[in-house]
This record gives sequence, C-alpha cells and structure tokens, in this order.
Amino acid sequence: MDSIFEEREGQIARTGGDAFTIACNKDSLAGAVSQRACVFCGSRVVLYPIADALHLVHGPIGCAAYTWDIRGALSSGPELHRLSFSTDLQEKDVVFGGEPKLEAALRELIAEHGPRAAFIYSTCIVGIIGDDLEAVARRVSRDTGIPVIPVQSEGFRGNKRAGYEAACKAMMRLVGTGDTSEVPPLSLNILGDFNLAGEIWIIREYYRRMGVEVTATITGDGRVDELSRAHGAALNVVQCSGATMDLAAMMEEKYGTPHMRVSYFGIEDMAQALYDVADHFKDRDPEMPGRARDLVREELETLYPQLQEFRRDLEGKKAAVYVGGAFKAFSLVKCFRHLGMKVAVVGSQTGTEEDYRELARITDPDTIVVDDANPLELSAFIKEKDVDVFVGGVKERPIAYKLGVGFCDHNHERKEALEGFAGMINFAREIHRTVTSPVWGFTPRRRGSLKAPAMKEAS
Ligand code: SF4
Repeated sequence: MDSIFEEREGQIARTGGDAFTIACNKDSLAGAVSQRACVFCGSRVVLYPIADALHLVHGPIGCAAYTWDIRGALSSGPELHRLSFSTDLQEKDVVFGGEPKLEAALRELIAEHGPRAAFIYSTCIVGIIGDDLEAVARRVSRDTGIPVIPVQSEGFRGNKRAGYEAACKAMMRLVGTGDTSEVPPLSLNILGDFNLAGEIWIIREYYRRMGVEVTATITGDGRVDELSRAHGAALNVVQCSGATMDLAAMMEEKYGTPHMRVSYFGIEDMAQALYDVADHFKDRDPEMPGRARDLVREELETLYPQLQEFRRDLEGKKAAVYVGGAFKAFSLVKCFRHLGMKVAVVGSQTGTEEDYRELARITDPDTIVVDDANPLELSAFIKEKDVDVFVGGVKERPIAYKLGVGFCDHNHERKEALEGFAGMINFAREIHRTVTSPVWGFTPRRRGSLKAPAMKEAS
C-alpha cells in the first residue's frame, strides 16, 4: 500500500500466518502526522482529573489550549481542574527566561483559588530555555504551604508514554504524605479510570456492593488528600495500564501495595475485574466471591436480552478500533463479539509488544494491527476492510465521517457511560444507532444498499 512510509512498515502487522511480530513504543516518524499526542499531553490527561489541584501549563498558550478540558473528567465536588491556566510565554520570556512569570502566576492563582496542590507542566519551549521549575516550586511551596510539583513533560522528550511516566512521578510525590489511620483493611485505589460520564461512580458502587471501600480514585474525580493516603489501601486496581502502571509499580516497590490490571469495559472484563478483586480479599472476607457472583448474575439478567435485540441488526458487520491504550482495545474486541461483529482493524497510540501479541491472539486471522498510526494509514485500512463503524477518539471522528463510516467516540469527548454492565448497553445502542443510520445510504460507499434495521428504538 502506498500510504505507508517505509520506516513505519514494522509497526503494521496482520494476524494469522507465521509468528506475530510488531515494532512499537518508538518515537513517531518525522513527516508522518501522528494520531498520538505529545509527552506534555500524556502527562496532562493523567493528572488533569485531580479536581482540587491547580494545573498550570508553563509554555505558549497553544499547549494549554490544545489540552483544555481534554478528558471532560467529572468531579463530584471542586472543579478547579476544568480551568486551563497558562503562563502564555512570549518572545521576551524565551529570551530572558520564564521563571519570574511562572512564579508570579503561581502566587496569584494559589491566592485566588486556594488549591490543595499545584502542578506545573513543562512544555517544549521550557525544556529548551531551561527554566528551573524545581527552584520556583520550592519557593512557592514554602510560602503558600501547599505542595507545588513540577511535571517534567517537555513535548519532545519522547512519546506519549513518557508523559504518563512524568505524571506518575509527580503523583508519587504526593503519595505517602497523608494519614492512613482511618483507611479500612478492605480497601483499594482505582487507577487509570478517568471518570468520563461519571463511570467511576458506577464502578465504586459495584465495589461497595461487594464490601470493598475505595480509598482513592486517582485519575478520575481525584483529590489531593486521597492521593496522599493512597498508600494505606490494600490494593491498586489499574485500568488503562499504559497511563498509571508506573505509579502502581512505584507504590508496590515503596509501600508493598500489590496491583492488578483490569478493564471495566464489556461483560467478561467487567465481571473478571470484580472476581479478581473478590479473590484478592477472600482470605479476609470469604463471603466476598459469592457477593461478586450475585452482583454479576443480577446485572446480566437485565443486560443479555437487550443485547440480543441489537445483535439482530449488527450480526456480520465489521469494526475498526484505534484507541490510546491497547488494554481498551482488548475489551472492545470482546464487546463487538457480543454484538455479532468482527474487528478488522485495531491499533493504539501506546501499546507494548506484549499488548499487541495479546491483540493478535484474540482477533481473527488477517486483522490489521497498527501502532502509532496516522490519518492516511487509518483511511486506507478502513477502505480496504470496508468497515461499518470506526471506534476512536477526537482525532479519529473526521476520518470516519469523511469516509462515510459510522463512528463511536470511546475517548475524550463522549458524554455517555460505556463502562460497567450499564455501559455495555449504552455501547451497543450507540453502535446500533450509528451503523444502521439511514444517512450512510446517501454516501457513495453504501449508496442505495442499506436495509432498514429490524430493531426500532424509542425516540
Ligand atoms: S509538542 Fe510541545 S509545543 Fe506542541 S503541544 Fe506538546 S508541549 Fe506544546
């Protein structure tokens, strides 16, 4: 295919045939516009949902605008995180240094908003001019009495994964600073869930029904105080492992907190997440596995009949998936199977070799697996496989619509809960709506070939 640069050929593979190999976790290729965000953006998405912290982007205004309210992560209380503050560096600051502007901005914003902590994000230009963020942070922290934490996230330092690591290092400076005397023994921290559309509240409620308390929801509806006592919890449960696995590993090494990877998307993975937690606590509470099973059974009794309805129209259709973390892609492959659909193209911005091998294992032969794709490649794969729906994020939506293909936002901009058992129904409904929309009958690709759906939805 002529849309693939020679240097990128190793990052695209097809399943089936000989042993599966793919190159990944490389810096993006200069000249190929990447779907992947920069280091700064990676750190910002992870830290941003800490709702009572000040998030100050030290750099030109564009970096802050590019990531403003990027996740839409909901908070049950303060909403300071939804404001986007920037030092708006100009030519004069680049020549003479941006530290005075940074210090003045920090002092003014802390006095105005009274945050519990402040994060200063370093951007490309700050890395070039060499402002000493640590020194500024120390001075302001000493005078204001709150933690002020630099995030070493210069956009050019690596790829988006390096941003996750920078965010985890910043969070680790808060962990261990709080009092854990009131943290109960059956407690866990939720990592890597961004509380889009309030999903953390759904998951929290499942854990409550099982008898487990949540100490900290670190990357969704997060609070500085919760983070400071997160080391008191008995377990770290990590979703979207790319974003927060480093924090889990650091906490395990320093505080001995064990961790497990989970996904809250789809039937099997949601159920398995609850079973794994129950299994972890069964020595302390032998009744917990039974409660987890009851919970799953109750939820599935309402879920399955509804899914069958959607499946009648969706059976045999094809999907393409391109998401940030590969772990989400695993769940999506399974979700589509429940709808009778096949994933023909699947990729991620930050997957590891192990992640891609797992994707190859669970997808059908001749599925295209791609790391760090660009719009040209994705367009070519969608056309080649003639998919009916594309699941991605904000940067993938226009690709789908320009090609006359249905789209489901599984990332930053969505407003509907897709996690948990209730989320599976929402997902099925959204896929059904977009795949069976009569609008595709007017596109050159499908002109005149669409059948009316069997299932009529209430309007
Ligand atoms: S690549 Fe650099 S300049 Fe661009 S948004 Fe990221 S930090 Fe800002």
